Amino acid sequence: MKKIRTLRGVFLGPPGAGKGTQAKVFCERRNLVHVSTGDLLRREVKNETPLGAKASEIMTRGDLVPDSLVLEITKKRLSAEDCRTRGFVLDGYPRNCAQAMDLDTTLKSMALPLDVVVYFEVSRASLIERLSGRRVCPKCAANYHVREAPPKDDRRCDHCGAELVQREDDRPQAIENRLMVYKDQTRELVDYYTERNLLVPIDASGNIDEVARRVFEKLKDIP
Ligand code: AMP
Repeated sequence: MKKIRTLRGVFLGPPGAGKGTQAKVFCERRNLVHVSTGDLLRREVKNETPLGAKASEIMTRGDLVPDSLVLEITKKRLSAEDCRTRGFVLDGYPRNCAQAMDLDTTLKSMALPLDVVVYFEVSRASLIERLSGRRVCPKCAANYHVREAPPKDDRRCDHCGAELVQREDDRPQAIENRLMVYKDQTRELVDYYTERNLLVPIDASGNIDEVARRVFEKLKDIP
């Protein structure tokens, strides 16, 4: 019987580095499950769940939602059958060392160790330009960029026709805050995963296809 090639990875990097876009492309090509904690949390907010109510204001400011809440939704998602059998890419999790340790414990209890952590490196100027030009579909969550990846019909989603919006946390003050939070709390994960021999740095400058090619090339022999 043909062995199914799974992969369990983390895409790590500052907000605006393109982790979400690249995770989507990579997961489609390799038939993996894309697990974005930002998307999971936004769904909770949209569905007005108790967890969503706790997270909403924090997310608008660009601060981190408490570790325990994010662990709860991430654990639930990772325990689903598709993550176990197909493998997954975590996008936006972990975001600090406590979360990285939570993740280690969770994956250990499921006997599903991480294979790789891809670290997306890009200049601060590009991050700001990518975040401020991003537009999203409020209905189907598709992502666009006003210059790099515009929708066909000016302001409407190519997939469902809904009017595109700017995420509240893509406004200037929240962007500044998110970059600061990254520097203070998330950046140290580069050392955490380097020490565990899992880190693969990727030059995340350039357009979506260029970066996607680099990611695919670097991960082609993993695991
Ligand atoms: P993202 O879509 O990954 O940029 O996440 C959007 C927002 O969701 C972040 O600015 C945080 O407020 C929250 N969030 C997403 N993932 C996490 C996480 N791992 N820990 C804490 N907060 C998170």
